[in-house]
Order: sequence, then C-alpha cells, then structure tokens
Amino acid sequence: MTAKVIDGKAFAARVRAQVAEHVARLKEENGLTPGLAVVLVGEDPASQVYVRNKHASTIEVGMASFEHRLDAATSEAELLALIDQLNADPKVHGILVQLPLPGHLNAELVINRINPAKDVDGFHISNVGLLGTGQKAMVPCTPLGCLMMLRDHHGKLSGLNAVVVGRSNIVGKPMAQLLLGDSCTVTIAHSRTRDLAEVCRRADILVAAVGRPEMITGDMVRPGATVIDVGINRIERDGKAKLVGDVHYESAAAVAGAITPVPGGVGPMTIACLLANTLTACCRAHGLAEPEGLTA
Ligand code: NDP
Repeated sequence: MTAKVIDGKAFAARVRAQVAEHVARLKEENGLTPGLAVVLVGEDPASQVYVRNKHASTIEVGMASFEHRLDAATSEAELLALIDQLNADPKVHGILVQLPLPGHLNAELVINRINPAKDVDGFHISNVGLLGTGQKAMVPCTPLGCLMMLRDHHGKLSGLNAVVVGRSNIVGKPMAQLLLGDSCTVTIAHSRTRDLAEVCRRADILVAAVGRPEMITGDMVRPGATVIDVGINRIERDGKAKLVGDVHYESAAAVAGAITPVPGGVGPMTIACLLANTLTACCRAHGLAEPEGLTA
C-alpha cells in the first residue's frame, strides 16, 4: 500500500482563506477587525523567523497585527505590564508570547497573566482545564491543526484507536484530549512506554510528537493507519541540512493509509490555526457566532 499524502500546505491555505472570508464579513457587517498581538523577548533567531511569519500571515487574512519586540534584558515586571496593557486593549483579541523566553523570565507566570479569552496559544492553565473537562476552550494550535486534518480525512473519528506518542503540555496531552473529545479510544505513549512498537501497531490514528528524528518506522505502523507526524527535526544528511519528522517517512508511507509529510504537513497548519483561534477569540468577545469548522 502507498499512503495518501495529507497535504498540510494546501489544507492550511484553505483554512487561511476561510479565516480571511470571515474576517472580511466581520469588518463589513460588524465593523470589527480581529487583532493579534505577538510579544517577542530577545533575539532568538528561530523565534524571529516565527514572529515574522505570524505577522505576515495575520496581515494577509485582513487582521490587525501588533508586534512587540522587547530587549532580552526586559524584566518580568515590564513584560507583565505589557500583558496587562494588551489584556485591556479592545483592539487586541489574541495575545501570543513567543516561547522560549530568556532564562530569567518565568514562562508559566507570564502565560498565566494573559486573559484566558485572549490566550490564542491555549497554554493558560484555565484553557488547559477547560479542554481537559471537555468545555469550550482556546485550544493549542498544533494539536488543533492535527484534529482538523484528521476530521477532514476520516469524517467521524468516533471509536477509532488513537495512539499519541509524546506527552508534552503543548502537543501530546492536548492532542490526546482532543481525540478523546471526538470519542477515540486514546493511548498516550512516552519514553517509559513498554514495547512502543506493539502499542503503535494498535493505532488507527498514530500521532508522533516525540522530537526524535525518524523514530517511528514502518514496522510500528498498522497497515492502513493514518499517521500524523508533528516532529520538526533539523538534521544533516550527506553533508546537507535537512528537515525530517519523528516518522521515518518512506517506510511508514509504504504501510500507512494516509500520512502527513515533513515539511508540508502539520507545520503549515499551526499558523493557520493561530489565525483561526484569533478569529474565534474575536467572535466570542463580541458574542458572535464562531467560525464553522475552525474550532474543536
Ligand atoms: P517535548 O520534548 O516537550 O516532548 C517529547 C515527548 O516525547 C515527551 O513526552 C517524551 O516522553 C516523548 N519521548 C521522547 N523520547 C521518546 C522515546 N524514545 N519513546 C517514546 N516517547 C519518547 O516535545 P514537543 O511535544 O514540544 O514536540 C514534539 C515534536 O513536535 C518536536 O519535534 C517539535 O519540534 C515538534 N513540534 C512541531 C510543531 C509544529 O508546528 N509542527 C509545534 C510544536 C512542536 P517523556 O515525557 O517520558 O520524556
């Protein structure tokens, strides 16, 4: 079997177009422009690229983008004061603090200062609790993107066996909660899981969020399964820099029913879902109907 390739780039473009259409309608009918504020502290080169991309994508869908670039030596008090200011600003519907923060800043404290209704990353402890109890939450962007692709491919997910490899707070755990919310039978695997290959082979849906290049190989995939590769790993092969996932693509694609490539799979969905979350936050803030198909 050769797996169907789930094209995250094309899917993300559709999501962004849907967001843009909804934003245009909000402007015309309600005089509203959803706004996203992104806060970057320090000079981390990867973070600078992410923030630039987020700014460009936000503008592209017709939203307002507010960038706040702070010096690496910014104090916690200064950063918290900025968050308070953004929380109070009616033009700002979504706030994202780019992680990682410099070592002297307490990321947990900073994230939990964001108004949960504006927490478009879905990392605030209130949103974690709401998601965990099956209530309306702001959902972390990467798992939300994975869920959208899975719903699109399968239709209903109810009753399917899902295995999520990885139990981080930003990917593995929320992914598992979302799959449970769609009535999958969910197993969460991690570094202490016994016989990982056997656990993975039970999966109709296998999500890899491990951070280890090409760790999930074809022999760990059940024939016909859907494989979602969240991993982004920069490696060097044959003297060249290369981006690979947590899944060994060639061997897994030979067995799976469907698979996301790296790059061009989950990655592009993450920014698309950030825009979707900002739109959702704006609609909720104004008591308007939420965009269909863009929430959990
Ligand atoms: P973390 O390092 O926070 O978590 C990795 C998880 O994998 C941990 O739960 C760990 O288990 C588990 N793990 C590590 N080694 C093994 C192993 N040998 N067998 C089984 N489980 C193992 O990573 P993240 O969740 O933040 O990210 C995961 C991947 O997703 C990374 O490649 C990251 O770059 C990528 N990513 C991609 C995004 C995108 O937009 N596409 C967004 C966010 C992340 P334990 O808890 O026991 O240590």
